Amino acid sequence: MAALPPAALPAHAGLREQGELLLGGVPLGRLAARVGQTPFYAYSRSALHARVAELRAALPAAVKLHYAMKANPMPAVVQCLAGLVDGIDVASAGEMKVALDSGAPAAEISFAGPGKRDAELRQAVAAGVLVNVESPRELPVLAAAAQALGLPARVALRVNPDFELKGSGMKMGGGAKPFGVDAEAAPAVLAEMGRLAAHGLAFEGLQIFAGSQNLRAESLCEAQARSFELALRLAAVAPAPVRVLNLGGGFGIPYFPGDQRLDLAPIAAQLAAFCERLPAEMPQAHIVLELGRYLVGEAGVYVARITDRKVSQGQVFLVTDGGLHHHLAASGNFGQVLRRNYPVALGTLHAGREEEQVSVVGPLCTPLDLLADKVLLPRAEVGELVVVFQSGAYGASSSPQAFLGHPAVAEVLV
Ligand SMILES: *Cc1c(COP(=O)(O)O)cnc(C)c1O
Repeated sequence: MAALPPAALPAHAGLREQGELLLGGVPLGRLAARVGQTPFYAYSRSALHARVAELRAALPAAVKLHYAMKANPMPAVVQCLAGLVDGIDVASAGEMKVALDSGAPAAEISFAGPGKRDAELRQAVAAGVLVNVESPRELPVLAAAAQALGLPARVALRVNPDFELKGSGMKMGGGAKPFGVDAEAAPAVLAEMGRLAAHGLAFEGLQIFAGSQNLRAESLCEAQARSFELALRLAAVAPAPVRVLNLGGGFGIPYFPGDQRLDLAPIAAQLAAFCERLPAEMPQAHIVLELGRYLVGEAGVYVARITDRKVSQGQVFLVTDGGLHHHLAASGNFGQVLRRNYPVALGTLHAGREEEQVSVVGPLCTPLDLLADKVLLPRAEVGELVVVFQSGAYGASSSPQAFLGHPAVAEVLV
């Protein structure tokens, strides 16, 4: 992608008259000085607020919004979002600690993930969070923890659906999966949950999550419709009324030229229809969406400094102090099938600078360490800043920071 024209800048970024990028209202150079180092991630508080407000305006009021914090577990981000959404979804005891520290009420925290350790299950029961059970193996462990602690073990069943989410960047359900319990096996696990009710297991609902990074409203609608029907069938054999119906996350954000923004309207209309059916068909239930990427992805940038400018066989390489060790996804190595460039820009966009084709690379001794391949940027010099947009989700925490022993990335919420 070429240097971003100002019109294409994310809503939270702006331009000063001198052509310097502003993030959360702060000029980039000043922000870099404030952080005290490059590379860093900067997340915009106002962008997080705006995104949640926009979702709330679009979706039926009865639908609860959760933040799936594995998308960005920075404590300040989790704390900011905890004040805006209805609950936090965690995927480990470590994330559970951050969520509880953020002040989110335990009653509104849920814990999913395959291979939960016995100690983690016990911690979840002690905390009073809802455990999304992914294996029958978890049930006796939870019952034992409930008995030992004299507390109910709040459980929902995560179901691996008997269908796929079409057009998803990363499939998380349908077919053979390590996540959840196959739909066919779910009735037996629900029956076991019922037997263990006398031993402290408190059934609260169902979770069905089909896939991540989806930009196609019709695919998401189809998956949610099939999830809803599957939930109705399972509710009929559940040991107690379904109170939580978690339809997962997976709303995508545009990364690449040609990506169309997800159209929320059909999704919202269908959810409204579900909400109307609930009183008759699942009277105690409320619908939960647990979104990760969609809430934070567009609110963050990654900023690195150019440390060298090299030419090899006519091709210009801008070498930066940042790379795949901080931002695996931008390098194309986090689940992408085809490598494409995240949107990038220089920190200063002086008019009249000549554009040239460059590749932006990192300092690692591997050809995979590529932040942008053959993009048009204004001619850049050593010392200038390069900004990678759409970097708020699956960034710092999903990158191999120890690889090659370079300094860790900093993170700020502006
Ligand atoms: C990762 C994850 C999510 C969030 O996925 P996004 O694509 O980031 O919205 C939601 N639910 C579960 C169980 C997850 O593991």
